[in-house]
Amino acid sequence: MKKYMLPVMMLIIFEAVAVTLWLTKDNLFYLFNFSYIGISISLGLFLFVRKYPYARRIVQLLVGSYMLVYLGLICNENMQIEGFWYYLFTGVFEAATIHYAVAKIFGPLIFGRGWCGFACWTAMVLDFLPYKTPKGPRQRIGWIRYITFAGSLIFVAALFLSHAGNIEKIMFWAFVFGNLLYYGIGIALAFLFKDNRAFCKYICPVTVFLKPMSYFSLVRIKCDKSKCISCGKCERACPMDVKITDNARKRENGTECILCMECKRACPKDAL
Ligand code: SF4
Ligand code: SF4
Ligand code: SF4
Repeated sequence: MKKYMLPVMMLIIFEAVAVTLWLTKDNLFYLFNFSYIGISISLGLFLFVRKYPYARRIVQLLVGSYMLVYLGLICNENMQIEGFWYYLFTGVFEAATIHYAVAKIFGPLIFGRGWCGFACWTAMVLDFLPYKTPKGPRQRIGWIRYITFAGSLIFVAALFLSHAGNIEKIMFWAFVFGNLLYYGIGIALAFLFKDNRAFCKYICPVTVFLKPMSYFSLVRIKCDKSKCISCGKCERACPMDVKITDNARKRENGTECILCMECKRACPKDAL
């Protein structure tokens, strides 16, 4: 039963968030929203434990398309980082601010960058591209993320400072065009660097939150040195170039781990 601990733990965490927000904000939507996400993630982890090969992809599609299509396009909630700044500036703890608090700022203290491995709607598409593991060396252009991060903040601040009218509508179209831009750049970079996750490594502004918080993550990939035979299969399977067999928190690319479990699947000795 020990191997089912993680799916059960995730379900409990999400249900706790769902019930807390439902009761404190007196809004049944939160119960539905976080229960749906929690059940989807737990189902994926359960299927992974049962060694179903497409477990993670199923969760990505369930959660990613729900957030992109239902919350973003149908409910008009900008769930991108611009939406986070927008709701933050208006002082509203709803939609994107709650999403960021749970999935991208405080949640990573528990489940690291699990969002990136299991739920992100950008990666949901990028992971269909042909370069599942990087075919070239890592580029030293990760600083671009700080520019996109600052750009998103400046964009929303400018809307407020200029007293732009109909900001709600602008935020909706920013969500549509922002996502199209992300997909376009993400696909182009994947082919340029022969790496599906190039966008995540160099461009994505959300990593400015995710990386430092995931450094302290409770859930981490650890290597049992007594079982490891140093075959290197795990590192060759990793989409994020993580030095997996090093258990130190500050291991090379440690905050890049998206908990996708590809290394664990590749390990012939069950050492991870
Ligand atoms: S790094 Fe950004 S684009 Fe990549 S999976 Fe994480 S949130 Fe999504
Ligand atoms: S270290 Fe393992 S779980 Fe983390 S990103 Fe690499 S393959 Fe995925
Ligand atoms: S795949 Fe397993 S045995 Fe091979 S180096 Fe990685 S942890 Fe060690």
